[in-house]
Amino acid sequence: MSRGKNPIWQYFQKLSNNQSKAECTECNKILSLGSDKPRHQTVSGLKSHLSTCHKDIYTIYLKRVAEDDGEQVNKKMKAESGASGSKPVTTWTQPTLQNLSERRVEWPDDHEITHRIDKCLMDLIIVDMLPYTVVNGPAFKRLNFGDPLGTRRYRLKSEKYFRTTLMPATYDRVSQKVKQQLSTAAWISFTTDVWTNPSKTCSLLSFTGHFLDGPVRRKVVLSAMPLEDDHTGVYLASKLKEAISKWEIESKVHVGVRDNAANMICDMLTYVTSAAQHIHCSWFCTTPYSPRRLLKRL
Ligand SMILES: [Zn+2]
Repeated sequence: MSRGKNPIWQYFQKLSNNQSKAECTECNKILSLGSDKPRHQTVSGLKSHLSTCHKDIYTIYLKRVAEDDGEQVNKKMKAESGASGSKPVTTWTQPTLQNLSERRVEWPDDHEITHRIDKCLMDLIIVDMLPYTVVNGPAFKRLNFGDPLGTRRYRLKSEKYFRTTLMPATYDRVSQKVKQQLSTAAWISFTTDVWTNPSKTCSLLSFTGHFLDGPVRRKVVLSAMPLEDDHTGVYLASKLKEAISKWEIESKVHVGVRDNAANMICDMLTYVTSAAQHIHCSWFCTTPYSPRRLLKRL
């Protein structure tokens, strides 16, 4: 990988005081070569930098690589021809720029197709309630998005990316849209209930908003709040207040519907009475709002 051989070195310069780094001559970014020993160095980071940050230059670079490949082929043909004393029978073809770029280029992370595939995978995890680790499965990793028989161009993201980056971003995007819908509603009523898992290790307080969006009746699960204290009326009221405040609907709450449990009655009396009517609903206990459905709706 000595300088002058690889066309990549037309766009980078090794640092004189640190042979394991190279500087981009276009934007002066310093990139690692992986080692200060030439035989252990790699230029993959440099190529990736060009493909992400300097797409025009990257296209020119690919063209130069293609030209160099063509020259290599011609040299090889001449050598073979000279050695045998006759014309080679092998038919060599020079790769076109398009062939070469299709073979080598992985879609960068900010590519629109990458975004679309990322979004589809996030939808899959959310709607089917799959663990983030689904992307670590061996069969999942074999999936070649785009074309199962074609070149692999989508680089699969880690489960950490979906868990810590894309899920919070998706939640923010959806909640902004819901907030916008809530802002246009004149009145908002809500239903609420406590759900506990069979082993009683986790409880959630649901908070579902019901409102008119023009002529359309909307029902949106606004919050599924984990309960960490005893389920007293005062505690539940504080959680409802938290949800109402988070969604900025204090002035719009119209009717709250809860089941007939004593603590649920109390929480409404403690907080919500001043702002809304509250009614009990005998069928509410049997309404099939599982936490699974609550989350699915988010
Ligand atoms: Zn650069």
